[in-house]
Amino acid sequence: MGTINVATNLQHVRDRVAAAEQCANRTPGSVHVLAVSKTKSTALIRDAWAAGQRTFAENYAQEAEQKIKALADLGIEWHFIGPIQSNKTRALASAMDWIHSVDRYKIASRLSEQRDPALAPLNVCLQVKLSDETTKFGASPVELQTLAEQVASLPNLRLRGLMTIPAASTNPEVQRAAFRRLRELFEALQAYHPSLDTLSMGMSGDLEAAIKEGSNLVRVGTDIFGAR
Ligand SMILES: *Cc1c(COP(=O)(O)O)cnc(C)c1O
Repeated sequence: MGTINVATNLQHVRDRVAAAEQCANRTPGSVHVLAVSKTKSTALIRDAWAAGQRTFAENYAQEAEQKIKALADLGIEWHFIGPIQSNKTRALASAMDWIHSVDRYKIASRLSEQRDPALAPLNVCLQVKLSDETTKFGASPVELQTLAEQVASLPNLRLRGLMTIPAASTNPEVQRAAFRRLRELFEALQAYHPSLDTLSMGMSGDLEAAIKEGSNLVRVGTDIFGAR
C-alpha cells in the first residue's frame, strides 16, 4: 500500500455523495458523511480534520477512549458504531455524542443511567438486523416499535433514528432492496416519533444505493482512510 492521501480521498467521497444526491433528486448537502476511523491512527484523523471533516466514528470502546483523549484539542463530534457489551456502556455513555448501535433495552437503560446529566442527551440510533445472514447484532424489525418506545422514554438519551449494516452485495438492486426496507421501517416509526431525523445507512461500497433510498448519513471508512 502506498501513502494514504486522506484529503484527496475525502474529496472523492464528497464528490460521490454529491453526485448520488443529484441523481436521486435529493437536496445538495442533505447527506452527512461520517468518517469511520476504526483501527486508523490519530495522525490520519488529524489529516481528515485538516481537510474539513468534523465527525468521526469508532467501533471499539477501548480504542475510542484512547483516541478521544489524544484528540481532545480538536473538539471532534464522536460517534460509536460497534457492538456494545454491558461492561462497556460506562466508558461510552459520556465520551460519545452519538451511538448508532443500540439494539436492546438493557444497553439503552445503562447508557441513560451512566450519561452525565450535565451533558446534552446522548443521540441514539437503533441498529436493525434486516436478515439472519448479516450480523448477530441488531434488533429485529418486529422488536423495533417496542424498543423505540422504551428508548424514547429514557431521560438522558435522544432517539434520532435507525442504522443497519446489510449483507454485503455488489449488486445495486440487492443493496437497494435492503435499504428500502430500513427506510420503510424508519417511516413507520416516524409516525409515532416525529422527531426521528437520522437514517444511518450506506458505507464505502454501497453509499449510492443507500442515498437513492433516503439515507441521510453514510458511514465511510475504507474509501477515506484506506483498507483495514
Ligand atoms: C467499519 C464500518 C463502516 C465503514 O465501512 P467501510 O466499508 O470501510 O466504509 C461503517 N459502518 C459500520 C457499522 C462499520 O463497522
